[in-house]
Amino acid sequence: MSYDSNNVFARILRGEIRCAKIYEDEHVLAFKDIRPQAKVHALVIPKGAYVSAQDFGAKASEQEIAAFHRAVSKIAADLGVADSGYRLISNIGGHGHQEVPHYHVHILGGQPMGKMVNLP
Ligand code: AMP
Repeated sequence: MSYDSNNVFARILRGEIRCAKIYEDEHVLAFKDIRPQAKVHALVIPKGAYVSAQDFGAKASEQEIAAFHRAVSKIAADLGVADSGYRLISNIGGHGHQEVPHYHVHILGGQPMGKMVNLP
C-alpha cells in the first residue's frame, strides 16, 4: 500500500489540522485521540511517511525506530500510566481495522482496559 499524503495525520503533521499536542521531538508527534475510548487515550505517530507498523518496521531507520519507542515510554510516563499499566494498540490494514493510513500507536489507560480482544 502506498502512502496517502492527504491522510488526516499527514495533515496534522503539516499543520493543516489542529491537534491537542502532548509531545513532539525530531521524529515523533503525540496528541490526544479526538474520540477517546479510555480516560487516557493518546496517539503517537512518527513524522516519517509510513503507512502502518508493518511499513515502519520494514522501512524506518534504526534512529526513527529507537526514537519512536523511547517516545512511547516517555509519553506513557508523562501521562501518569506507566506504573498503573496501560495498553498499546496499533491497528494494521484491513483485518486490523486501521482507519488512518499513517502509522500510529494508541496509548490507552487511566482505568482497567478489560479483555485484550473483542471479536465481532
Ligand atoms: P485506527 O486507524 O483504527 O487505529 O484509529 C485512528 C484513530 O484516529 C481513531 O481512534 C480516531 O478517533 C483518531 N483520529 C482521527 N482523526 C483524528 C484527529 N483529527 N485528531 C485526533 N485523533 C483523530
